[in-house]
Amino acid sequence: MRGRHQHHDAVVVGAGFAGLGAARELLEAGLSVQVLEARPRVGGRTLTRYLPDGTQLDLGGQWIGPTQHRIRELVDHFGISTYPTPAHGDPVVDIGGERLTSPPPEVDSLLEEIDLLALQITPERPWDAPEARAWDQQTFASWLAGTGYSEAAIRYVARVVSGGLLAGAPAEASLLETLFYVASAGGIQPLMGYEGGAQETRIVGGAQSIAEHMAAELPSGVLRLAEPVTAVEYDSAGARLTTTTHTYTASRVIVAVPPTLAARIRYDPPLPALTDSALQRTPAGGALKVHAVYPTPFWRDRGLSGMSTSDSGVLTETVDNTPPNSPRAVLTGFVYGDEAVLLRGRSLEERRQIVLERLGELFGDQALSPDDYVEFDWMAEEWTRGCFSGHLVPGSTVTFGPALRAPVEVVHWASTETATEWNGYFDGAVASGRRAAEEVRAALGK
Ligand SMILES: Cc1cc2nc3c(=O)[nH]c(=O)nc-3n(C[C@H](O)[C@H](O)[C@H](O)COP(=O)(O)OP(=O)(O)OC[C@H]3O[C@@H](n4cnc5c(N)ncnc54)[C@H](O)[C@@H]3O)c2cc1C
Repeated sequence: MRGRHQHHDAVVVGAGFAGLGAARELLEAGLSVQVLEARPRVGGRTLTRYLPDGTQLDLGGQWIGPTQHRIRELVDHFGISTYPTPAHGDPVVDIGGERLTSPPPEVDSLLEEIDLLALQITPERPWDAPEARAWDQQTFASWLAGTGYSEAAIRYVARVVSGGLLAGAPAEASLLETLFYVASAGGIQPLMGYEGGAQETRIVGGAQSIAEHMAAELPSGVLRLAEPVTAVEYDSAGARLTTTTHTYTASRVIVAVPPTLAARIRYDPPLPALTDSALQRTPAGGALKVHAVYPTPFWRDRGLSGMSTSDSGVLTETVDNTPPNSPRAVLTGFVYGDEAVLLRGRSLEERRQIVLERLGELFGDQALSPDDYVEFDWMAEEWTRGCFSGHLVPGSTVTFGPALRAPVEVVHWASTETATEWNGYFDGAVASGRRAAEEVRAALGK
């Protein structure tokens, strides 16, 4: 028999940054709130783990950047310390078979072209851009192919933009969706940069700790863990939510989960066609983040920063991910697109071998034998299903984009995928939660 709970002004589904951000705003507005989280933990796409010797690994999201004011406010509010991403030496830029320390001018100029096109996008309404329809029907790959740049420059930009930013292959996203993503962050440099960019700062204690602080601040009983919402029955007066163990009623609902999971909840009545189509057309990205742990940051002795970007090989990017005062050193790599698909088909031992061989090519033979090799596949996680975030597939932003965050009766939508600023990031998730909370507050006249 299912337990029943008191009626709330709002039930929030999901305790990632979007859901926790929404709950904070609703509580501040004096509304009664219940947060229902499927996992036995908060933080969604953040997960901080410690190896037995205390070496810290952020298996999910980890960085914040200087223009991400909302997440920064939270970090400051909780008195959480931060530290800069280590950069003691030269990066490796492996492009067209050459090993450089910065991308060639041709790459900069291609990235500038993307920036210039992104200026034509209003992130709240990408579908209104003058060439929105044509850009939506073209993939980022086909646009790149027509730019006239060298094959190496195109391959490099395809990998670092589609992979590094959208966590997919360049044929998986439209030009419009790619430009929207760039515009929502304020440009390529804020997105791709370390110093001055989204990868500038790390969190002492790991990024998941921000979510844990947010959860700890909620009044007792507001958050219920290990309660996946399986069904939402709704009409214009309110909603009834069913979890695996209880039912809840509320005047308003905020679904703060990635679209691919929002689509797996059963709605009664079924969602309007446009909303359901928008959710179906926003699959999660397929990045793999891997960590190799070494006794020392040996690459620094060779004058290398541990940062690399490559137009070939399994790892598009690597970074020195060693926390300050860490007992051991960490190199982290990212695998995207086709490489991620191929790697997922291999055994753990084969994946380890392939990744370490590439690290060896980039940083020398010492990279071949780490003490530990750790990976975590967000695609295999029942309550995430892919990373970093989801994106509308080609041809669908103009038609279905507006439906992704339009409320349906009393059901509102949050998650970083619905954000218009810093879409795909913690900051966007918090912003989306606040926007949905504001919709609820206004609807309830509070
Ligand atoms: C490997 C990786 C690296 C990343 N790097 C960065 C980075 O460095 N910086 C950055 O800003 N961002 C990064 N991101 C993206 C960032 O983590 C996300 O944008 C952000 O955490 C999304 O928050 P969210 O609240 O929208 O969604 P989520 O974090 O996915 O939260 C959704 C929550 O809903 C729960 N849920 C799902 N379905 C149900 C259900 N039916 N009922 C109840 N609960 C449910 C989930 O368990 C989850 O807790 C990274 C992500 C990954 C995976």
